[in-house]
Amino acid sequence: MQEQLSYNLKEHLNSDKLKIALKVNTHVRKKMAEILRSEDFIEIPPVIFSTVTDPLNHPVHDPSFVYEGTSYSLTKSMIFHKQMLVQSIPKIFTFSPNVRLETGDKQSSGRHLLEFTQLDLEVKGASREDVMRIGERLVSETIEYLKEIMPDDLKKLGRTLRTPQTPFKVFKFLEARDQYGENFEQILSEKEKDPFWIIDIPLKEREFYDRESDTERGILRDMDLMYPEGFNEAISGGEREFELSRIKERIVAKGQTFEQFKWFLQFAEQGLELSAGFGIGIERFVRYVCGFKRIEDVHPFPKIPGKFSI
Ligand code: AMP
Ligand code: MG
Repeated sequence: MQEQLSYNLKEHLNSDKLKIALKVNTHVRKKMAEILRSEDFIEIPPVIFSTVTDPLNHPVHDPSFVYEGTSYSLTKSMIFHKQMLVQSIPKIFTFSPNVRLETGDKQSSGRHLLEFTQLDLEVKGASREDVMRIGERLVSETIEYLKEIMPDDLKKLGRTLRTPQTPFKVFKFLEARDQYGENFEQILSEKEKDPFWIIDIPLKEREFYDRESDTERGILRDMDLMYPEGFNEAISGGEREFELSRIKERIVAKGQTFEQFKWFLQFAEQGLELSAGFGIGIERFVRYVCGFKRIEDVHPFPKIPGKFSI
């Protein structure tokens, strides 16, 4: 990899595009946090590194280091920390900085950064549908708010945004794939005019912690929110496996080890209750609001898959 930036840093930092995107970012964080606080969510501090982090269901390089004899990973998501803490504090959220060293083939997607922030939340005793309603509120009320407070900026970007009506449309994963083929997510994202859900994702597509349906084996109680206009995925989430035997079965089925998740499993042995939650990528939301082709335009110091970054 050549040690050269693929863009002019001074021009980028001084661009109207970036300035507007950062203003959107500021107001997105404020509005979404306000909505959650109004629903009695408690904001928790982010975890930057840990002995246990999200295994993810796609390959990434592993940013880990050894400190005084213990190996730690940079946080890929706070899934396990959320699931442990929500047992005591029933509604939590955090702006979680995640590091995912995505492979170079993600460069062309326009929606992957190596370093990004998700607004990550979890609710004890909640169903998938309960947290879908929260996701809809966050997305539609924040869009409405941005249209109200920064119409001139959006106009400068040539961006007209619809405020989506709730509840959003729902597609079942397998039905959508049968109808539109392997690339159904992108096809639907380009076809639809408003954000929409994809639910009931098959087990092999996701991680071990997504709860399997009690009535439909092999189908998960989870969901993705998709943006329209081809902007693709906004949110992933769902209900969590909370029974120790099922958690262990799923880890084994994935070919993972108990050692990898030791601290989480020790906690789970003391009993977990059902929770559900999701993460919404902040940079992706800002990109959608601004209507940018590429996610790096919303970040002052973007880390782009497969490219040199400072
Ligand atoms: P996941 O649970 O892995 O789907 O991640 C939760 C959310 O974080 C996704 O729905 C995206 O909005 C966002 N996200 C995930 N990976 C990236 C990435 N590499 N760059 C930017 N945002 C991401
Ligand atoms: Mg996802």
